[in-house]
Amino acid sequence: MMEERTDVKSLFFQELDQQLREKGLKAFRSGQIFQWIHEKQADSFADMTNLPKDLRQRLMEGYDLVTLKQEDVRISKIDGTRKYLFGLKDGHVIESVWMKYRHGNSVCISSQVGCRMGCRFCASTLDGLERNLKPSEMLDQIYRIQKDTGERVSHVVVMGSGEPLDNYDNLVRFIRLVSDERGLMISQRNITVSTCGIVPGIQRLSEEGLSVTLALSLHAPNDQVRRKLMPVAGRYALKDILSACRGYFERTGRRLTFEYSLVKGVNDNLEEAKALADLIKDQQGHVNLIPVNPIKERSYVQSDNGAVERFRRCLEKSGINVTVRREMGRDINGACGQLRRSFRKRTSVTKRRIDEDESIWDD
Ligand code: SAH
Repeated sequence: MMEERTDVKSLFFQELDQQLREKGLKAFRSGQIFQWIHEKQADSFADMTNLPKDLRQRLMEGYDLVTLKQEDVRISKIDGTRKYLFGLKDGHVIESVWMKYRHGNSVCISSQVGCRMGCRFCASTLDGLERNLKPSEMLDQIYRIQKDTGERVSHVVVMGSGEPLDNYDNLVRFIRLVSDERGLMISQRNITVSTCGIVPGIQRLSEEGLSVTLALSLHAPNDQVRRKLMPVAGRYALKDILSACRGYFERTGRRLTFEYSLVKGVNDNLEEAKALADLIKDQQGHVNLIPVNPIKERSYVQSDNGAVERFRRCLEKSGINVTVRREMGRDINGACGQLRRSFRKRTSVTKRRIDEDESIWDD
């Protein structure tokens, strides 16, 4: 059987350098090759035209250069937002979104194929988790998009399908690679990682020496309401999650974002707004209100504008910073994960979801 080739796009410079030197290559080659992969975003070794032909051949034999295949893109006529569907080597598809803001271009990437967290309002989790994405597959979402748009990406949000802290090692490697000075060099301060609240993951991330922003998907002011929306709330109590968030701020100096999707009649009344203000008044961070994006598989309804406005004002009166998420690409929208669902013809084989399989938390 052929040995599996090394995923070269997931290697740090030092790792690649060491491997190439062991193979007898001259020192300057590592820099050239790393630059081809991460700065010029070459699609293949054949494109690395300043390398000798036999070296390109050797690289091809020893290494796998992971690139995603653009299966589809939808471009908003309203604001230019682009929603991409990318194919992976094993036939899975993932979604990424490109958004244009005054402060720069932002890409929302997926961190897993599917998700096992089971949040009730989210389309990405309906079929459970297929597999984790490799660092190379997270990077290439950005590389492809930058090539397709011809514009530099300055911000990254890990808020697409998947729970990033459920794919911890690959996430951290991705962050280091995308901010590497030999690569895209996206400032870590412009990277946001969104989590449903996996306490050990938040604690570990606080200790990595990174300066990324952490966004917590809160969605409720107490455990009782939160458990209705998010199965993961049965595993970690808000008290412990918020204490981990405080630790994150203390360690990194980075203020947090608390995401709160407003669902009509479930988490959007004034009592809940007051309770939310109480819950986070001692935290360093702001609240991002998101009127829930309804998915056809569930009956959740978006809070109306009046309710969103009342909720916002109540938080502001308590001295909390609030933004209401501007809806981007309304004409191409569909909630996260829906483009992928509409594309998939095959049904998933492995269905792992925490509400069906508690044992997955025991590892
Ligand atoms: N697993 C991570 C990141 C992916 S989801 C997390 O839970 O944070 C990114 C954000 O979108 C989360 O806050 C998630 O709760 C929210 N979200 C998912 N589906 C949504 C929907 N249909 N409407 C509004 N927000 C949604």
